[in-house]
Parts: sequence; C-alpha cells; structure tokens
Amino acid sequence: MTDSALGLEKREQDQCILCGAARLVEVAVQVDRRKGLPGRWRLLECGDCGAISVAPLPLADELSTYYASYSNDSQAASAGGAGSRFPWLRKLFHAISGDVDPRDFVKIGEGTRVLDYGCGPASYLADFHHKGVNISGAEIATDVVNACRAKGFDVRKVEDVHRIPFADAEFDLVYLMQVFEHLRDPHGFMHELSRVLKPSGMLYLALPNRRSVWRKIFGKNWVSGWFTPFHLFHYDRDSLERIARQHGFEAIAAWSRTPESWFRLNLKATIYPNDMSLDSRRCWLDIGMVRLLSMLILRIIELPVRQRDCLVVEFVRLS
Ligand SMILES: [Zn+2]
Repeated sequence: MTDSALGLEKREQDQCILCGAARLVEVAVQVDRRKGLPGRWRLLECGDCGAISVAPLPLADELSTYYASYSNDSQAASAGGAGSRFPWLRKLFHAISGDVDPRDFVKIGEGTRVLDYGCGPASYLADFHHKGVNISGAEIATDVVNACRAKGFDVRKVEDVHRIPFADAEFDLVYLMQVFEHLRDPHGFMHELSRVLKPSGMLYLALPNRRSVWRKIFGKNWVSGWFTPFHLFHYDRDSLERIARQHGFEAIAAWSRTPESWFRLNLKATIYPNDMSLDSRRCWLDIGMVRLLSMLILRIIELPVRQRDCLVVEFVRLS
C-alpha cells in the first residue's frame, strides 16, 4: 500500500496520526545523536492521547535511506552460551542489567506457535528454536534473512512493511522487541497483528516509555528513547492500549525497567553534548567494573520509580 493511500503523505502533521486530535504541542527539536544523519525533527505531543510523534514523519523512501546507514549484523546467532544453558543465570543477570529479553518473560507452552517480528540476527529466536519451540521470524534486511535461513531458522523477508508475511490466525503468540516505535502506520500494523494471531493469542510489545522518569531527567539527551529519526512515535501504556483496543486487543499486564546500556548511552549524550555519533563512542563508562557499578546504582535508584525506560505491555487478542 502506498503512503498516500494510508494518508501518510502529509509532511507537516496538524493532527495526531494515532487518535486524530488536533491539539499538538512541540515538546522538543531533536537531531540524530547516534548515527549523525543530517536533519532536525520536531517532536509533537498529542494533548489528547499523549503520544509523541516525529514531525515531519519521514517518508518510506527516506526511512530506507536512514536504515542503509545501519551496519547490519548479518551473522545469524547460533544457540549456545551460558544464557541459553542456564536460563536462571541469564534471568538473574538481566534483573541486574535491566535488559529486556523475551526469553525471560513470554509464556510459551507446549505446541505454542510463535512469531518474532523484527527478529534481527535471530538472537532470541535461535534459542527458542533449539529448545523445540515452533517459532518463525520476520525481518526486513535481506542479508539478515538469508543468514538466518542458512542456520535453518524459518525467517521470512518482510517485502511490504504494511503486511506481516504470514497467514491469518497462524500464531498463538507474537512478540516485538523495540520494533513498534519504528513503524509509520501503527494502526495498520496493529490490525495486521490482530490478523495473524488466533483468538485469545498473546502479543508482547517492548518499546521506550514516553513517561519514563529518565526522559524528564535527561531531556534532549534521552537519546535511547528519542533515537530520532528512527523512533517515529513515543508511547506509554495508555496510548498503546488505546490503539490496541481498536484492533481487538486488551492489555493484561505492563511493567518497565531501564537497561543499563540505554542509561549509559544517555549519560554519554550528556557528557559529550557535541558528539553526533554516540553509537561508536567508547569511553570509561564502557569499562566492565564501571558498568557493573552503574547497574547496581541504577537498580537501587529505580526501586521507588514506577515509570522506567523500557515498557513491556502484554496483550490478549479478544475473540
Ligand atoms: Zn493523539
């Protein structure tokens, strides 16, 4: 489907793309601090649903150019490592590091048919696959898809970003880790998720939380969350639930935590305000002992905090 058919061709939105309200307030103007892409983008907050959108919303062609600046890891993961052999150890480490890993929380029973949408080099999918889970993946980058297939994983190429390349009611469970905020047409995609899930199927979304306390503290240096121009929308539980409900989903649980890697990126953005390619910046914050210390400090500081950086919402598709 074309952008104009979806009503997405308009460059300067005067209405919230998610709820249609006309009360948009500029909350920030951001540049790309991670890859150094040229340009400035406004961030508009909806006075109604609260979601924040990037303006102008990049066109599909522009996004393709932006993504080409990523150096894709085309090496598909193989199972192995302490994380897959000792799940309790991995879970314990993630409780300290704050990493959000679907292997720690998605509820997979016997025979559960699973989709990892935006699986990348199959970091999680490989582990599920080797544990005997009936899992498939979908990914946009051709070389990543080929590398995954060469390892024997069922990963399909996303040819059309508005369509999930699987049949209706194929899955019992779908998860998207840090993907949904990249999508230009959240409503259309939610409809697709509803299409590929069976009634009572489960959907897990993990994405940056616009209500995070760290957004208030870091401001424009909240680079892990803003990640302009790649993160097109910023949600919280309520705004996400509002969209999902229109497509037959009900939120049944939500929680958030702050990965130390995100926190570290925001610290770097604050310490090096003129650095426009923070992804390649290495500094004392990357030293193992410093990281461990900051993980522990972060966990203690965050104890009384309810709104943390990475939000996970669990939905059920109503029948
Ligand atoms: Zn809105």
